[in-house]
Amino acid sequence: ETVVTVVGGGLAGSEAAFQLAKRGHRVRLVEMKPAKRTPAQVSDFLAELVCSNSFRSDNPENAVGLLHEELRRVGSLILASADEARVPAGDALAVDRVRFSTWITERIEANPAIERVHGELESLPEGHAIVATGPLTSDALARAIAEATQGGDGLYFYDAIAPIISAESIDHSIAFAQSRYGKGGGDDYLNLPLDEAQYHAFVAELRNGQKVVPHAFEEPKYFDGCLPVEVLAERGEETLAHGPMKPMGLSDPRTGNRPYAVVQLRREDAAGTSFNIVGFQTRLTWPEQRRIFRMLPGLAEAEFVRLGQIHRNTFLNGPALLGGDLSLRSRPELYFAGQIVGVEGYVESTAVGFLAALSMDARLRGVPFQPPPGDTALGALLRHVTGEAHPPGYDYQPTNITWGLFPPLQGRVRKAEKRTLLVERARASLDAWLAKAS
Ligand code: FAD
Repeated sequence: ETVVTVVGGGLAGSEAAFQLAKRGHRVRLVEMKPAKRTPAQVSDFLAELVCSNSFRSDNPENAVGLLHEELRRVGSLILASADEARVPAGDALAVDRVRFSTWITERIEANPAIERVHGELESLPEGHAIVATGPLTSDALARAIAEATQGGDGLYFYDAIAPIISAESIDHSIAFAQSRYGKGGGDDYLNLPLDEAQYHAFVAELRNGQKVVPHAFEEPKYFDGCLPVEVLAERGEETLAHGPMKPMGLSDPRTGNRPYAVVQLRREDAAGTSFNIVGFQTRLTWPEQRRIFRMLPGLAEAEFVRLGQIHRNTFLNGPALLGGDLSLRSRPELYFAGQIVGVEGYVESTAVGFLAALSMDARLRGVPFQPPPGDTALGALLRHVTGEAHPPGYDYQPTNITWGLFPPLQGRVRKAEKRTLLVERARASLDAWLAKAS
């Protein structure tokens, strides 16, 4: 009988171990606590919440709320525990963190199919295994993963996330579609033109804006090419105008002139429902990002799908390295799950733990993996990890679940109805998928 090794007893690993056991498999769950903790952890329970006690909105009209609903329907251990340990928090699903983690730890330890192994794994396990060691994977294992993945080219240690804006909130009477020197698809980029005074005012705001203070364990070691926009602003008055904001190869069709500087917005999804601000990874606080970026011409009404951030985060280039079933292409018995595949957040990590277990179960039973359809929240996350949702040349960065990851609705849809239709479509798809699976 095959024993599946699950490495990491966080949210994804606990979910995966539970789901495998539920499907009749034996599991070894290897967790390095209590011998060693990551710098963010303070307890020795499984499924520790390292920061906020919130799973964010529980309302299905938010993409994350829909993901809650789907996880409940597929029998997630983590969601059951969150419901059990729920504390009042309005629209949000927030939990008593000790009760939450205790409940999970007890259920895993009482499960006769799961053997808990204490200790740090320093090399990749042999045989069928799921690696779910999270954003702060221990150094030794991270080295081993780097070696197994294109000599490290596919493993990253920091997020450098630029803000993402919904397309419909951009003022298209100011933004103009153009690629530098007319290269590439004409509407892959939108450009926001700045005159000299606007540029200098913007640089001053970036310099003075309030920044997030990094944790001690994430002392910034920036790589050139992904420096925070405010660090570039501090380097010199014209640094940005010669860097990500350079106007070369662009002319504003409304004036026929080259602007003093431009902010480029790049299509985030194939359908063009959202755009990221090119080169604007940032450590500005979230309120400051909203305030300062809305000063840019064309962004006065900007709706942020995601704000920028930079923090320590070990993650794989999922689309390049993983197959559609979450196994490593170069080593197909090895699966990855949780935040390490390039998702962000408690609920998303849990969801990938569930998906990896489902996929491993199919493999062990010798049947094809039938993932949830791409228009469900579970399926949409998988599309992000496997790259199906991305336009060519997409710069793979971890993401929360957002509506931008879902395939767009067909035909013309009024904005007010969009979410309701996306939710209805997802529910119908999940129903059909569940009916087929049972
Ligand atoms: P984890 O929950 O991190 O679990 C991984 C487990 O693997 C850990 O228990 C670790 O001890 C173990 N492990 C690591 N290496 C080894 C090894 N070599 N051998 C054996 N075991 C190992 N998300 C939110 O939704 N809200 C937040 O407020 C939030 N705040 C965060 C703050 C910080 C500082 C960090 C770093 C992350 C934060 N996140 C937050 C992200 C969140 O931590 C993750 O989304 C989630 O915990 C990931 O789940 P996971 O199961 O993939 O990894």
